Amino acid sequence: MAEIQLRNLQKRWGDFVGVEGFDLTIADREFLVLLGPSGCGKTTTMRMIAGLEEVSGGEIRIGDRVVNDLEPKDRDVSMVFQSYALYPNMTVYENIRFPLKVRGVDPASHDEKVMRAADMVELREFLHRRPAELSGGQRQRVALARAIVRQPNVFLMDEPLSNLDAKLRVSTRAQIKNLTHDLKVTTIYVTHDQIEAMTLADRVVVMRKGKVQQVGTPTEIYDRPANAFVASFIGSPAMNLIDGQVAEGTFTADGTAISGLDLPDGPLTLGFRAEDARLAEFATQAEITAPIYTIELLGDAVMISVRIGGALVSVKADKSFRAEIGTPVSIHVPARICHPFDADTGERV
Ligand code: ATP
Repeated sequence: MAEIQLRNLQKRWGDFVGVEGFDLTIADREFLVLLGPSGCGKTTTMRMIAGLEEVSGGEIRIGDRVVNDLEPKDRDVSMVFQSYALYPNMTVYENIRFPLKVRGVDPASHDEKVMRAADMVELREFLHRRPAELSGGQRQRVALARAIVRQPNVFLMDEPLSNLDAKLRVSTRAQIKNLTHDLKVTTIYVTHDQIEAMTLADRVVVMRKGKVQQVGTPTEIYDRPANAFVASFIGSPAMNLIDGQVAEGTFTADGTAISGLDLPDGPLTLGFRAEDARLAEFATQAEITAPIYTIELLGDAVMISVRIGGALVSVKADKSFRAEIGTPVSIHVPARICHPFDADTGERV
């Protein structure tokens, strides 16, 4: 059992707050992703769990032990870093075997354990090579094999795919998902890539400036973002956010009038996703009318944007759509697809 409990976890350096009030229970075998922009505290949180960073406050439990004062090697966690951190003078075999050696695991079992880990990441034919003789993807697989070789209870991964090219990222991502599922380990995975988060996670924690913004399944976070920051961070393109005013159930901004909203009068930030809105066939059906600002061919669709106040607002059109920049378009944005956020705090209303 490797349930992880984080209770009011804090990290401060002098006056600077790196992580604040982090409270979460991560279930045994869960795949949890920490997601957020650069500097939001993801790596610091992970390093505190690994024991590489001292905590300034709060408690970390792994299984039934409080581990705050345990050395990293006594926490039964394995880490995989973005930089692979392989030993250049060792062969792939020796790199994978290394954790067994330092932990004094019975040498008679090394060969079998190394082979099993190498097989899981399809590295058997490379065991005699040194890291310099491998591609980036192969090196990252060595780092994965080294992390799984001693079957830890907890896997910590810090942006393990960020040095790989786009194609290799997709295949290695699938391999990680498969591997952690087969190994039945609790995994915490750090990324700033929302696609990685959405595809890998059982649950996602969205962080900003050291604070948790929302915890939920990928679907929950996508369908019901807790605030405008989460809304703008999840989804590609980001959710459209328009600042305007509500009066008698109608939201208005430049070229925009969306009625049928059950909201109090006053300022509001209104969000909707490009894929939920559509071009209106008749101008009378349109809630937004504005000239085209950009037009991008995506292959399976065409992405159009217009400017509303200071904001760019995108809508997905059929792949056959063709028009010039500057041509007026009408966009249908029914109230039911809209996400309302407080104009000051950004919290969902
Ligand atoms: P990235 O995606 O860029 O790796 P991150 O979300 O992992 O970002 P952290 O590395 O956890 O961010 O850093 C969180 C904040 O703490 C940052 O503002 C960083 O500058 C600060 N920080 C990290 N380490 C230290 C340190 N040793 N002393 C002071 N501040 C630090």
